[in-house]
Amino acid sequence: MSLARSLKTLSKEEIRAFVASIDYVLTDCDGVLWKELTPIDGSAKVLSLLKSMGKKVFYVTNNSTKTREEYVSKFEKLGFSASKEEIVGTARIVATYLKDKNFTGKAYLIGSKGLGNELSAAGIDFFGLGPDPVQTDNLPEVFDAKFEKDVSAVVVGFDLHISYPKLLKAATFLSNPKCLFVATNTDEVFPAACDNTVPGTGTLVAAVETCSQRKAQIIGKPSTLMFSALAKEHNIDPKRAIMIGDRAKSDILFGKNVGMTTLLVYTGVNSKEDVEMWQTSLDPSDKLLIPDYTLDSLGDLLPLLENLTK
Ligand SMILES: [Mg+2]
Repeated sequence: MSLARSLKTLSKEEIRAFVASIDYVLTDCDGVLWKELTPIDGSAKVLSLLKSMGKKVFYVTNNSTKTREEYVSKFEKLGFSASKEEIVGTARIVATYLKDKNFTGKAYLIGSKGLGNELSAAGIDFFGLGPDPVQTDNLPEVFDAKFEKDVSAVVVGFDLHISYPKLLKAATFLSNPKCLFVATNTDEVFPAACDNTVPGTGTLVAAVETCSQRKAQIIGKPSTLMFSALAKEHNIDPKRAIMIGDRAKSDILFGKNVGMTTLLVYTGVNSKEDVEMWQTSLDPSDKLLIPDYTLDSLGDLLPLLENLTK
Protein backbone atom coordinates (compact mmCIF):
# COMPACT_ATOMS: atom_id res chain seq x y z
CA MET A 1 0.00 0.00 0.00
CA SER A 2 1.34 3.40 -0.99
CA LEU A 3 1.56 5.72 2.01
CA ALA A 4 2.23 9.44 2.22
CA ARG A 5 4.88 10.43 4.80
CA SER A 6 4.73 13.61 6.80
CA LEU A 7 8.07 15.38 6.35
CA LYS A 8 7.88 16.02 10.10
CA THR A 9 8.39 12.30 10.78
CA LEU A 10 11.71 12.21 8.90
CA SER A 11 14.99 12.17 10.83
CA LYS A 12 17.49 15.01 10.40
CA GLU A 13 19.58 12.80 8.10
CA GLU A 14 16.53 11.88 6.02
CA ILE A 15 15.64 15.58 5.67
CA ARG A 16 19.23 16.29 4.64
CA ALA A 17 19.04 13.56 1.95
CA PHE A 18 15.58 14.83 0.87
CA VAL A 19 16.90 18.39 0.41
CA ALA A 20 20.04 17.14 -1.36
CA SER A 21 17.91 15.16 -3.81
CA ILE A 22 16.17 18.30 -5.09
CA ASP A 23 17.45 20.98 -7.47
CA TYR A 24 14.10 22.34 -8.63
CA VAL A 25 11.09 23.36 -6.55
CA LEU A 26 7.84 23.79 -8.44
CA THR A 27 5.05 25.18 -6.33
CA ASP A 28 1.39 25.95 -6.76
CA CYS A 29 0.26 29.39 -5.49
CA ASP A 30 -3.39 29.54 -4.33
CA GLY A 31 -3.72 27.50 -1.15
CA VAL A 32 0.06 27.03 -0.75
CA LEU A 33 1.50 30.56 -0.72
CA TRP A 34 -1.67 32.53 -0.09
CA LYS A 35 -5.44 32.50 0.06
CA GLU A 36 -6.66 35.36 -2.10
CA LEU A 37 -4.79 38.33 -0.60
CA THR A 38 -3.75 36.68 2.68
CA PRO A 39 -0.24 35.14 2.69
CA ILE A 40 0.04 31.71 4.35
CA ASP A 41 2.42 31.91 7.31
CA GLY A 42 5.99 30.80 6.66
CA SER A 43 5.66 30.04 2.93
CA ALA A 44 7.68 33.07 1.81
CA LYS A 45 10.50 32.27 4.28
CA VAL A 46 10.68 28.61 3.20
CA LEU A 47 10.94 29.56 -0.47
CA SER A 48 13.62 32.19 0.12
CA LEU A 49 15.58 29.73 2.28
CA LEU A 50 15.34 27.08 -0.47
CA LYS A 51 16.58 29.67 -2.99
CA SER A 52 19.50 30.56 -0.70
CA MET A 53 20.35 26.83 -0.64
CA GLY A 54 20.72 26.98 -4.44
CA LYS A 55 17.34 25.49 -5.39
CA LYS A 56 15.58 26.92 -8.42
CA VAL A 57 11.97 27.85 -7.63
CA PHE A 58 9.14 28.03 -10.17
CA TYR A 59 5.55 29.03 -9.53
CA VAL A 60 3.12 26.86 -11.50
CA THR A 61 -0.48 28.01 -11.25
CA ASN A 62 -3.72 27.00 -12.93
CA ASN A 63 -5.15 30.41 -12.10
CA SER A 64 -5.77 32.23 -15.39
CA THR A 65 -6.91 35.59 -14.04
CA LYS A 66 -3.52 37.30 -14.14
CA THR A 67 -0.68 37.95 -16.57
CA ARG A 68 2.85 37.16 -15.38
CA GLU A 69 3.48 40.89 -14.85
CA GLU A 70 0.39 41.07 -12.62
CA TYR A 71 1.64 38.03 -10.71
CA VAL A 72 5.02 39.65 -10.08
CA SER A 73 3.27 42.57 -8.35
CA LYS A 74 1.01 40.22 -6.36
CA PHE A 75 4.09 38.27 -5.17
CA GLU A 76 5.78 41.48 -4.08
CA LYS A 77 2.68 42.80 -2.35
CA LEU A 78 2.32 39.60 -0.32
CA GLY A 79 6.00 39.43 0.71
CA PHE A 80 7.30 36.92 -1.88
CA SER A 81 10.01 37.60 -4.41
CA ALA A 82 9.51 36.25 -7.91
CA SER A 83 10.59 37.21 -11.40
CA LYS A 84 8.47 36.91 -14.54
CA GLU A 85 10.63 33.99 -15.71
CA GLU A 86 9.83 31.99 -12.56
CA ILE A 87 6.05 32.18 -13.10
CA VAL A 88 4.14 29.70 -15.23
CA GLY A 89 0.43 30.51 -15.40
CA THR A 90 -2.26 29.04 -17.61
CA ALA A 91 -3.08 32.45 -19.16
CA ARG A 92 0.29 32.58 -20.90
CA ILE A 93 0.44 28.86 -21.68
CA VAL A 94 -2.96 29.02 -23.45
CA ALA A 95 -1.56 31.85 -25.61
CA THR A 96 1.66 29.94 -26.41
CA TYR A 97 -0.37 26.76 -27.08
CA LEU A 98 -2.41 28.61 -29.75
CA LYS A 99 0.73 30.23 -31.19
CA ASP A 100 2.45 26.83 -31.41
CA LYS A 101 -0.56 25.62 -33.40
CA ASN A 102 0.00 28.56 -35.80
CA PHE A 103 -3.42 29.87 -34.85
CA THR A 104 -4.33 32.88 -36.97
CA GLY A 105 -8.14 33.10 -36.67
CA LYS A 106 -10.38 34.77 -34.13
CA ALA A 107 -10.89 33.31 -30.65
CA TYR A 108 -13.97 33.58 -28.45
CA LEU A 109 -12.94 34.05 -24.82
CA ILE A 110 -14.85 33.05 -21.72
CA GLY A 111 -12.32 34.35 -19.24
CA SER A 112 -10.92 37.37 -17.48
CA LYS A 113 -8.73 40.34 -18.32
CA GLY A 114 -5.43 38.63 -17.44
CA LEU A 115 -6.09 35.84 -19.92
CA GLY A 116 -7.20 38.41 -22.51
CA ASN A 117 -3.99 40.39 -21.99
CA GLU A 118 -1.81 37.31 -22.54
CA LEU A 119 -3.76 36.50 -25.75
CA SER A 120 -3.24 40.10 -26.95
CA ALA A 121 0.46 39.96 -26.06
CA ALA A 122 0.76 36.86 -28.24
CA GLY A 123 -1.01 38.69 -31.09
CA ILE A 124 -4.17 36.57 -30.89
CA ASP A 125 -7.38 38.26 -32.01
CA PHE A 126 -10.22 37.56 -29.59
CA PHE A 127 -13.54 38.87 -28.26
CA GLY A 128 -15.97 38.03 -25.45
CA LEU A 129 -14.35 39.70 -22.44
CA GLY A 130 -16.67 41.15 -19.76
CA PRO A 131 -20.41 40.92 -19.05
CA ASP A 132 -22.80 39.45 -21.63
CA PRO A 133 -26.06 39.29 -19.66
CA VAL A 134 -29.44 37.96 -20.73
CA GLN A 135 -31.41 40.95 -22.03
CA THR A 136 -34.89 39.43 -22.15
CA ASP A 137 -37.03 36.61 -20.73
CA ASN A 138 -38.36 35.91 -24.21
CA LEU A 139 -36.72 32.54 -24.92
CA PRO A 140 -36.88 32.55 -28.75
CA GLU A 141 -35.19 35.93 -28.72
CA VAL A 142 -32.39 34.63 -26.47
CA PHE A 143 -31.99 31.40 -28.47
CA ASP A 144 -31.96 33.14 -31.86
CA ALA A 145 -29.48 35.87 -30.92
CA LYS A 146 -27.44 37.14 -33.86
CA PHE A 147 -23.67 37.16 -33.51
CA GLU A 148 -20.63 36.72 -35.70
CA LYS A 149 -19.77 33.10 -36.36
CA ASP A 150 -16.31 33.33 -37.86
CA VAL A 151 -14.58 31.88 -34.80
CA SER A 152 -11.71 29.36 -34.89
CA ALA A 153 -11.16 28.76 -31.15
CA VAL A 154 -13.13 28.88 -27.92
CA VAL A 155 -10.95 29.55 -24.87
CA VAL A 156 -12.39 28.98 -21.38
CA GLY A 157 -10.84 30.28 -18.17
CA PHE A 158 -12.21 31.76 -14.95
CA ASP A 159 -15.01 34.22 -15.77
CA LEU A 160 -17.11 35.96 -13.13
CA HIS A 161 -19.50 37.05 -15.88
CA ILE A 162 -20.40 33.55 -17.10
CA SER A 163 -23.93 33.72 -18.50
CA TYR A 164 -26.42 31.89 -20.71
CA PRO A 165 -25.58 34.03 -23.78
CA LYS A 166 -21.88 33.15 -23.35
CA LEU A 167 -22.70 29.41 -23.22
CA LEU A 168 -24.98 29.78 -26.27
CA LYS A 169 -22.16 31.42 -28.25
CA ALA A 170 -19.48 28.94 -27.15
CA ALA A 171 -21.71 25.94 -28.00
CA THR A 172 -22.60 27.43 -31.40
CA PHE A 173 -18.95 28.13 -32.31
CA LEU A 174 -17.94 24.65 -31.16
CA SER A 175 -20.58 23.02 -33.36
CA ASN A 176 -17.95 23.58 -36.08
CA PRO A 177 -15.60 20.59 -35.56
CA LYS A 178 -12.67 22.70 -36.86
CA CYS A 179 -13.10 25.20 -34.02
CA LEU A 180 -10.44 24.55 -31.33
CA PHE A 181 -11.63 24.13 -27.74
CA VAL A 182 -9.04 25.07 -25.11
CA ALA A 183 -9.53 25.47 -21.35
CA THR A 184 -7.17 26.61 -18.62
CA ASN A 185 -8.03 24.03 -15.94
CA THR A 186 -10.69 21.84 -14.38
CA ASP A 187 -10.35 22.89 -10.72
CA GLU A 188 -13.78 22.42 -9.13
CA VAL A 189 -13.40 24.99 -6.38
CA PHE A 190 -11.15 27.90 -5.55
CA PRO A 191 -9.29 27.89 -2.18
CA ALA A 192 -10.84 31.12 -0.88
CA ALA A 193 -10.15 32.93 2.39
CA CYS A 194 -13.88 32.96 3.25
CA ASP A 195 -16.21 30.16 4.45
CA ASN A 196 -18.16 29.93 1.18
CA THR A 197 -17.59 27.21 -1.39
CA VAL A 198 -16.26 29.16 -4.36
CA PRO A 199 -16.88 27.52 -7.78
CA GLY A 200 -13.67 27.19 -9.81
CA THR A 201 -12.94 27.22 -13.54
CA GLY A 202 -13.80 23.52 -13.86
CA THR A 203 -17.43 24.45 -13.26
CA LEU A 204 -17.42 26.66 -16.36
CA VAL A 205 -15.45 24.17 -18.46
CA ALA A 206 -17.94 21.41 -17.57
CA ALA A 207 -20.83 23.67 -18.62
CA VAL A 208 -19.25 24.41 -22.03
CA GLU A 209 -18.26 20.75 -22.52
CA THR A 210 -21.85 19.71 -21.74
CA CYS A 211 -23.58 22.08 -24.14
CA SER A 212 -21.01 21.65 -26.94
CA GLN A 213 -20.81 17.86 -26.41
CA ARG A 214 -17.04 18.17 -26.86
CA LYS A 215 -14.02 17.77 -24.58
CA ALA A 216 -11.66 20.70 -24.08
CA GLN A 217 -7.89 20.50 -24.40
CA ILE A 218 -6.92 21.24 -20.81
CA ILE A 219 -3.77 23.34 -20.51
CA GLY A 220 -3.33 23.45 -16.71
CA LYS A 221 -2.25 20.85 -14.17
CA PRO A 222 -2.51 17.83 -14.16
CA SER A 223 -1.77 18.12 -17.91
CA THR A 224 1.97 17.94 -18.54
CA LEU A 225 1.77 20.91 -20.96
CA MET A 226 2.69 23.28 -18.12
CA PHE A 227 5.89 21.30 -17.54
CA SER A 228 6.73 21.15 -21.27
CA ALA A 229 6.42 24.95 -21.44
CA LEU A 230 8.78 25.32 -18.50
CA ALA A 231 11.20 22.66 -19.76
CA LYS A 232 11.50 24.54 -23.08
CA GLU A 233 13.26 27.36 -21.26
CA HIS A 234 14.87 25.51 -18.35
CA ASN A 235 16.61 22.18 -18.41
CA ILE A 236 14.67 20.59 -15.54
CA ASP A 237 15.29 16.97 -14.62
CA PRO A 238 11.95 15.82 -13.11
CA LYS A 239 13.78 13.24 -10.99
CA ARG A 240 15.51 16.14 -9.21
CA ALA A 241 12.35 18.21 -8.88
CA ILE A 242 9.53 18.43 -6.35
CA MET A 243 5.97 19.62 -6.95
CA ILE A 244 4.27 21.29 -3.98
CA GLY A 245 0.51 21.79 -3.99
CA ASP A 246 -2.72 21.85 -2.01
CA ARG A 247 -4.98 20.15 -4.52
CA ALA A 248 -4.10 16.53 -5.31
CA LYS A 249 -6.20 16.20 -8.49
CA SER A 250 -4.21 18.97 -10.15
CA ASP A 251 -0.88 19.41 -8.29
CA ILE A 252 -0.02 15.89 -7.10
CA LEU A 253 -1.29 14.21 -10.25
CA PHE A 254 0.71 16.75 -12.32
CA GLY A 255 3.85 15.96 -10.30
CA LYS A 256 3.31 12.23 -10.80
CA ASN A 257 2.50 12.63 -14.52
CA VAL A 258 5.81 14.43 -14.98
CA GLY A 259 7.77 12.07 -12.68
CA MET A 260 8.54 14.51 -9.84
CA THR A 261 8.54 13.97 -6.08
CA THR A 262 5.31 15.37 -4.60
CA LEU A 263 4.40 17.26 -1.43
CA LEU A 264 0.80 18.00 -0.43
CA VAL A 265 0.16 20.79 2.07
CA TYR A 266 -3.08 21.03 4.03
CA THR A 267 -3.59 24.80 3.76
CA GLY A 268 -5.87 24.70 0.73
CA VAL A 269 -8.28 22.28 -0.91
CA ASN A 270 -7.31 18.80 0.37
CA SER A 271 -7.00 17.60 3.95
CA LYS A 272 -5.28 14.86 5.92
CA GLU A 273 -8.63 13.01 5.97
CA ASP A 274 -8.67 13.00 2.13
CA VAL A 275 -5.20 11.41 2.04
CA GLU A 276 -6.23 8.79 4.63
CA MET A 277 -9.30 8.00 2.53
CA TRP A 278 -7.24 7.59 -0.70
CA GLN A 279 -4.79 5.34 1.14
CA THR A 280 -7.54 2.92 2.15
CA SER A 281 -9.62 3.29 -1.03
CA LEU A 282 -9.88 0.36 -3.46
CA ASP A 283 -10.34 2.72 -6.41
CA PRO A 284 -7.03 2.77 -8.39
CA SER A 285 -7.62 6.39 -9.46
CA ASP A 286 -7.53 7.43 -5.77
CA LYS A 287 -4.05 5.88 -5.44
CA LEU A 288 -2.73 8.37 -8.00
CA LEU A 289 -3.66 11.21 -5.66
CA ILE A 290 -1.47 10.02 -2.76
CA PRO A 291 1.54 12.34 -2.44
CA ASP A 292 5.03 11.18 -1.45
CA TYR A 293 5.08 13.68 1.41
CA THR A 294 2.67 15.86 3.37
CA LEU A 295 2.85 18.87 5.68
CA ASP A 296 0.14 20.81 7.52
CA SER A 297 1.61 23.95 5.98
CA LEU A 298 4.63 24.78 3.80
CA GLY A 299 5.84 26.94 6.72
CA ASP A 300 6.37 23.71 8.71
CA LEU A 301 9.37 23.03 6.49
CA LEU A 302 11.19 26.05 7.93
CA PRO A 303 12.31 24.53 11.29
CA LEU A 304 13.25 21.29 9.49
CA LEU A 305 15.50 23.22 7.08
CA GLU A 306 16.93 25.47 9.79
CA ASN A 307 17.74 22.41 11.89
CA LEU A 308 20.13 21.23 9.15
CA THR A 309 22.47 24.15 9.77
CA LYS A 310 22.60 23.55 13.54
MG1 LIG B 1 -3.86 25.55 -5.20
